[in-house]
Amino acid sequence: MSVLIVGSTALDSIKTPKAENPRLLGGSASHAAVAASFFAPVKLVGIVGEDFPRRYLQLYKRHQVDLAGLQIAAGKTFHWSGEYEVNMNSRRTLETELGVFETFTPKLPASYRDSQFVLLANIAPSLQSHVLDQMRRPKFVVADTMDLWLNIALPDLLQLLKRVDGFVLNDSEARQLTQEDNLVAALKKIHKLGPRYVIIKKGEHGAILSTRNGLFLSPAYPLHRVVDPTGAGDSFVGGMMGYLSTARGSIDDNLRRAMIYGSVVASFCCEGFGLKFTTRITRPAIEARFKELAKLTRF
Ligand code: AMP
Repeated sequence: MSVLIVGSTALDSIKTPKAENPRLLGGSASHAAVAASFFAPVKLVGIVGEDFPRRYLQLYKRHQVDLAGLQIAAGKTFHWSGEYEVNMNSRRTLETELGVFETFTPKLPASYRDSQFVLLANIAPSLQSHVLDQMRRPKFVVADTMDLWLNIALPDLLQLLKRVDGFVLNDSEARQLTQEDNLVAALKKIHKLGPRYVIIKKGEHGAILSTRNGLFLSPAYPLHRVVDPTGAGDSFVGGMMGYLSTARGSIDDNLRRAMIYGSVVASFCCEGFGLKFTTRITRPAIEARFKELAKLTRF
């Protein structure tokens, strides 16, 4: 089984109180694809410009990411820059340059259309829907989003939510979407919008899953030092979908375990700038941290 992932393929310039790193490989789809690749083959859908460094294409290839769905267009790659405060939970977007994303229409190669596991990582909800339109009969579709789309493309997002199995968003987005301060109440309201599985991410405090069978609290791995949390949410959902696509049994049987794998990959992501640390880890390192998390939460 492979996972189809669509989202942003970007160059990120990231500033923290301790360092500054320009033009790193980033984007929701890049983080999610590398995270998923530790578990399953990945088919990437995205767009980059002619300025996209060749070494980043090599990096995808080293992770066996299928690039048949990656368009290379005339123009500039999507560029995002952000700055973190001393408290790394607080981030400010400095600039977003859409570049080739401005005219992007995702087109799926024939070899992608039968994919069973689909991750609609963060991009405009109309583009996420456009990808779904081209799929045959996917088994499990999960969408991620960000506050920007709640602000400027809410009708498109609401349309999309009627068509997905799972929806992942962070706590402030859940509050904004539902106008509900209490997250348990917010989860109920989000189910009414369509998705059977809803996951609210709470950064260093883990994530909450809500299904017909009730709630599950997934911990975050406690890190001594966070270098750059950019892409942690994308790594979480990428790792989760990668694991799910290879696990035997039903989604309900495997989703909790998948979330723990997602938390583990997200923790590695936070330990280096961009994808620098994530791309160096191995499956045994993931398994070791998975066991540690299980021990830390058993009582
Ligand atoms: P996260 O830290 O999980 O919120 O994800 C950060 C990633 O989102 C970065 O790598 C950015 O390139 C990407 N990103 C930022 N703004 C947007 C946007 N408007 N659309 C799609 N991706 C974005």
